[in-house]
Amino acid sequence: MTLRILPAPAGSGVVFRRVDLDGFEVEAIGRNVARVSYATSLMKKSVLISTTEHLLSALIGTGIDNAILELDNLELPILDGSAQPFVEAILKSGIRKQRRPRTYLRMRREIEIREGDKFIAVYPAESYSLSYTINFPHPLIGRETFSVDLSNGSYFREIAAARTFGFLHEADAMRQQGLIRGASHDNAIVLTRDGIMNPPLRFKDEFVRHKVLDLIGDLALLGHQILGRVVADRAGHAMHTAMVSRILRDRSLWEETTVEDEMESSPDAAPMAAQQMA
Ligand SMILES: [Zn+2]
Repeated sequence: MTLRILPAPAGSGVVFRRVDLDGFEVEAIGRNVARVSYATSLMKKSVLISTTEHLLSALIGTGIDNAILELDNLELPILDGSAQPFVEAILKSGIRKQRRPRTYLRMRREIEIREGDKFIAVYPAESYSLSYTINFPHPLIGRETFSVDLSNGSYFREIAAARTFGFLHEADAMRQQGLIRGASHDNAIVLTRDGIMNPPLRFKDEFVRHKVLDLIGDLALLGHQILGRVVADRAGHAMHTAMVSRILRDRSLWEETTVEDEMESSPDAAPMAAQQMA
């Protein structure tokens, strides 16, 4: 399994390219969201791109607006279950500023979605911030809230390294459904009934930080960096992507705007390759 991240012209956005299917391209944008359960998948004309959220999160975190993501199969490498390996590879390869101001999606009005005790909302703000609350019935988790403003480089320090997590007893069932293929102690925090199988945690509240990482990756499907304040409580990929669809559908909620003296970014010409064991 190989992923290559290539530069793209200003204004082209983020596009997946299946090199195993004659270079068929699937734009990383809300209208291509396919099915969403344990991970977010895109589909266009029956061509699938699976588990997009960690890489798209890394692109937002590193400020990449334009890139081609070349894949030779339908699933993105899970690597260590966080966004850190993507971030490191992008920073190592280099980021080029392009001669065109970045277009932000600036929220003009609030939008809230409630579903039972689940909640997600986006409010107008002058920077991009997120606050996530989870309430997970496990002795190491329980109720956790994490808030972060992405405008000051905190993505690298506080979000990128947080790994995905799952219960040991769910892993086998998920593998049988073809989900989290190859999930192991190397690419997820594995929870047992009262502890974890592969300590130590990278952060005491790594679980909720990973939910923020996922949320950033799912909201990346808006196609622009956001100026807004996001609040989520026990949401998941389905609600994240429902929010993307609602925002994209209602043009009265937001406007496109540029910030003076700011340019877009694209990874530099050196392609990066991330490999994963099967
Ligand atoms: Zn995740």
